[in-house]
Amino acid sequence: MIYTNATILTLDDQRRIISSGAVRVVGNNIDSIGKADELATAHPDDETIDCRGGIMLPGLIDTHVHTSQCLLRGVSEAAGPGDFHTWLYGRIFPLQGTYTSDDALASASLCVLEMLKSGTTGFVECLLARHYGLDGIARMCLESGIRAALGNLAMDVSPEKRDSAGWPIEMWQDRESGISGTIEGSSRWNDDRGRLQIWFGSRSVEPINDLSLFPELAALSEEHGIGITIHLAELESDNEYARSLGHRSHIALADHLGLLGPRTVLAHCTIADDADIELLATSGTTVAHCPANNSATGWGPARIVDMLAAGVNVTLGCDGAPTNANMDLLRDLRIAAHVARMRDHTRAAITPETILEMATRNGARALGLQSTIGSLEPGKAADFIVINVDAPHLQPVWNPVATVVFAAQGSDVDTVVIDGTLVMHHREMKTMDEAAIVADARARQAEVARRCGIDDLGSSWQVV
Ligand SMILES: [Zn+2]
Repeated sequence: MIYTNATILTLDDQRRIISSGAVRVVGNNIDSIGKADELATAHPDDETIDCRGGIMLPGLIDTHVHTSQCLLRGVSEAAGPGDFHTWLYGRIFPLQGTYTSDDALASASLCVLEMLKSGTTGFVECLLARHYGLDGIARMCLESGIRAALGNLAMDVSPEKRDSAGWPIEMWQDRESGISGTIEGSSRWNDDRGRLQIWFGSRSVEPINDLSLFPELAALSEEHGIGITIHLAELESDNEYARSLGHRSHIALADHLGLLGPRTVLAHCTIADDADIELLATSGTTVAHCPANNSATGWGPARIVDMLAAGVNVTLGCDGAPTNANMDLLRDLRIAAHVARMRDHTRAAITPETILEMATRNGARALGLQSTIGSLEPGKAADFIVINVDAPHLQPVWNPVATVVFAAQGSDVDTVVIDGTLVMHHREMKTMDEAAIVADARARQAEVARRCGIDDLGSSWQVV
């Protein structure tokens, strides 16, 4: 199959942009890439799909996602209590705690559908609690076509600490079952095409969690080749906790515990200082920067310009729908650019080219798939999207990279191909029943709220 008549942002080592380009896909992989007329002449009998002058680029990779929170879209803006502790323990945990596995699957399906329809072809889920049902979500991901690294919950919170913190028992699990469930899950689901990986999705290095958990996770990660993802260095209180234990910072404590390294994806790192950035760079750790979440919560933003300059593998994440409200990474590309420029008070802080590298090549490295995806080159997997540029807000196109980063939005994605499979064409999903997924999510909203007994999630304005 030849996908033809596109402007191709290859993201290859030379960062070539091919005008009037085409990609030939054979099986799962890119066989060749070049000028449309040359590929047509070389392979006259191939079927073709006309990309109608759109912009083709590698599929986007979202490295920080809470699939369970899509049913809770926007609830952080509710009229109820707004501080972080009340938000987490009084709203999000109780709501998620009341989920059945069907609710969690419905939320994850909605999340994956939204990601695919907005050009995300791979993602890292950070915290899958046991009652969500790992196998059902893993199967749904495989059937949808998306690439996933599913972080299966790892924690060590004693029942006494759990109860005194008001932690819902459904959101709790013992240390041993979290670890064994992840190792068994990875041997059951990991495949050699990099379509699905099961990782440790660890609770943070926080006072409620027993610190001995983390060196064990680090050793098991090394032994079994399992990734680790964890929220880290988000708030100044994280540094205060680390200092109370005699460590310079939260990231220094994570280093001491063996958590830093090329298999680790740290979400946020909004309080990293110069010495922390050095640790992140030398260890090869990935930082999942979540600019929409940072903006919505008023935290950070992370010092990504300094991190990139130091050589840190910085990637992008949409985080959770309660705060971000959208899982449209294409939209968040421009938020990442805006936030970085506002933080450093200069337009020169970051270019759209760098932003796009973060969402593609760097994301591939975070997944350990840099030799498989992240750029469009012969021999790599055929993971790409095509953006339709016919809409008024996308014309005219002077610089296709700037058009993608600053002008495009998820609904402009026309075509999605993952591992050679046509997942979406002309916005029609080939692998998921869009209407059924949306209807299911809508139907579950009121039931989840009723079960949880929370009724102050609307606007402060009166509903009449
Ligand atoms: Zn998060």
